[in-house]
Amino acid sequence: MSETMTDTEFLKLKIEILMGQLKYYVTVVPLSVSQEEGGTFSLRVVCPHCRKEMEYRNYSLPNANIFNVITYCRNCRRRFFMVSRAYSCLMKAALLVLAAMPMVLKLKLFEYMEKLKPWLIKKLMSGKGNMSKIKKMLFP
Ligand SMILES: [Zn+2]
Repeated sequence: MSETMTDTEFLKLKIEILMGQLKYYVTVVPLSVSQEEGGTFSLRVVCPHCRKEMEYRNYSLPNANIFNVITYCRNCRRRFFMVSRAYSCLMKAALLVLAAMPMVLKLKLFEYMEKLKPWLIKKLMSGKGNMSKIKKMLFP
């Protein structure tokens, strides 16, 4: 991969970064998620930093059941991720599985995922209505 790192060392670094993200990202599950007119969503959350309760409106969520959107607190200006309960559970389960998995298996899994990624991206882009959702998210 580079002049000083082997492909395996680079993959180990990617795994370490992913596990760090799963472990240390500041996330909050909204108190409520409701759909507004026009298909956007309103999310009521308590800031994980200053504990102030706020409502964020006009959010475009591709899926109301599984989402991960970055935002910042209007009170303390610190950043956090609003995640659905299902997303939070999946990430905690993934972290537990990865933490218990020997490095040899993690490397095999990530090598497989690297090969799967182009197929998955192509599948997501070609799904019915997905391109318009992605365009709407990028250019509201
Ligand atoms: Zn705050």
